[in-house]
Amino acid sequence: MASKRTAKQRVASDDDTKEEPAKRPKLRNGASDPLREPHRFAAEAEEHGIVLRKFYPPEMSNARARAYNDNKIPRPIEQLEAAVEETASMRKDTKVKEAVIHWFKTDLRTTDNRALWEASQKAREAGVPLICIYIVSLEDFEAHFTSPPRVDFVMRTLHELKRDLAALDIPLHVETVAKRTKIQERIVEFMDEWGASHLYANIEYEVDELRRDARIVRVCADRGLAMVLFHDTCVVPPGALHTGAGKQYAVYSPWYRAWVAHVHANQELLSLLEPPAKNPAAAREKVAALFDCEIPEVPENKRLSEEDAARFRATWPAGEREAMARLEKFCDEKIGAYGKKRNFPGDAATSSISVHLAAGTLSARTAVRTARDRNKTKKLDAGVEGIQAWISEVAWRDFYKHVLVHWPYICMNKPFKPEYANIEWSYNSAHFEAWCAGRTGYPIVDAAMRQMRSIGYMHNRCRMIAASFLSKDLLLDWRLGERFFMERLIDGDFASNNGGWGFSASVGVDPQPYFRIFNPLLQSEKFDPRGEYIRKWVPELRGVEGKAVHDPYNRGAEEKARKEGYPRPIVDHRESRERALRAYKAGIGRDKP
Ligand code: FAD
Repeated sequence: MASKRTAKQRVASDDDTKEEPAKRPKLRNGASDPLREPHRFAAEAEEHGIVLRKFYPPEMSNARARAYNDNKIPRPIEQLEAAVEETASMRKDTKVKEAVIHWFKTDLRTTDNRALWEASQKAREAGVPLICIYIVSLEDFEAHFTSPPRVDFVMRTLHELKRDLAALDIPLHVETVAKRTKIQERIVEFMDEWGASHLYANIEYEVDELRRDARIVRVCADRGLAMVLFHDTCVVPPGALHTGAGKQYAVYSPWYRAWVAHVHANQELLSLLEPPAKNPAAAREKVAALFDCEIPEVPENKRLSEEDAARFRATWPAGEREAMARLEKFCDEKIGAYGKKRNFPGDAATSSISVHLAAGTLSARTAVRTARDRNKTKKLDAGVEGIQAWISEVAWRDFYKHVLVHWPYICMNKPFKPEYANIEWSYNSAHFEAWCAGRTGYPIVDAAMRQMRSIGYMHNRCRMIAASFLSKDLLLDWRLGERFFMERLIDGDFASNNGGWGFSASVGVDPQPYFRIFNPLLQSEKFDPRGEYIRKWVPELRGVEGKAVHDPYNRGAEEKARKEGYPRPIVDHRESRERALRAYKAGIGRDKP
């Protein structure tokens, strides 16, 4: 693993489901230990499906989140690093046996895939076959709210990947595992079956995945097998950037300056890797049976209707070739104007590659490198303005993964600042249903929600407007919206989704609750000035002319809107804004550290 951290003082258990009583920190007020005491709003969160008790304990307490901040609990990345460090000498001595394995996760591509490349080198040097595997983990799909379009996209990509690998005489074995706790067991079994000594994989930064890999590293080491992990999904690995005071950045702009400087100083971060080498012919014979493996059907609970599947397939063709073609086309035709046009959803001026970055059919390195190579300079923050702007957006993706790794409790249903957990949210089901259905009476919000329902994608500006509307205008628990997005988006990515919700609901890094309350009507007029986006996604308003399309009931198009069955606004923005300000103030003030 590329980045190293210093060992931290650890006084509490590293498992959020258990605690070591003797090591708990002393409490200031002598009250009962709040470290495990569920937050008072936790019951509501659980009741509304925000915390899945089947997989996770109830919402963690604010005190426990602070214990992470105070380095009293090891972060999951540190648990993984410790496992890697403690097993290093054993791994060094592990001789290659009969095969080397690459385990695909969210890196579903052959080109510019670090762990795959390294696995291929290892196999080639030893003259043994490279075998690839992918585990379809049903419980992970459930626990992470993975959307049916996303699962469908992954399965379609696996077909492409299998074909591309087979052309290199490399088999792709795809297997479904029902219980996620059984993954480690199954992987080790599979290694034994094929006499594999080495398991290569790229790191996923979500909490469950980091802990799973830490376990597998140790299980492998106990059996004389080597699991070798790589940072790959970000351009700059999490943990590599620090403020002058040695801290993790929590604000994007200074972080971005550090990110750019780091890439400039380490140009190899943008070096791209070739696909793996072909397996030797004899090696292919040894693993011939694996080529017969069928890609499983999409699991039943994630299956799309035929009509939906056809639409998603047409809108989002799968695989790395398609990813590269999209990227090239965007760079040829649109990147120059990106800075000026990217906020206008009617203009289709963005790259639409998020689905590929999320599934790993494209690497972030390749994205940045391709854009940079179209510029007049190698500097990421100079030259063509559109290219600079686009690279800085791809960097947001890195930023949110860096945040996740350092503040892992955001992956456990907590806001970035623990005291923001005390905001009293609404769970008004009529409001939530109207928002989900795109029937709030605010045309820009409704267009956004219907775009997502139809194609599993929503323009970035509209994601902010829709998220702000849910959390500020409706004061609904932002985690309901976060979950609904994951359940619908084809590009659903925990860190980016959580980061986007954190920004829009003012519960993330740099929250600004008193200044960042979007006015949906002003946003609509500014970013969809001609109402093209609204008319595209809200057919009831296609016949409404001029500015009335932004607010038909108050701008003289009431009759038309009513006749077409378009709803009245479900809340008044001015009143909602005041209510939100009061709720944020009361909540944040309730529990200062
Ligand atoms: P482009 O504008 O072409 O940008 C290129 C790439 O940069 C994107 O593909 C994406 O990988 C990255 N990027 C751009 N903006 C952001 C951003 N604000 N945060 C993080 N990465 C960014 N993005 C996801 O990939 N998955 C999500 O689940 C997700 N959920 C979001 C939820 C909310 C509430 C908000 C406000 C944003 C969310 N985003 C998410 C970020 C952003 O909206 C999408 O990445 C973007 O709309 C994808 O379209 P594009 O590929 O055309 O982007």
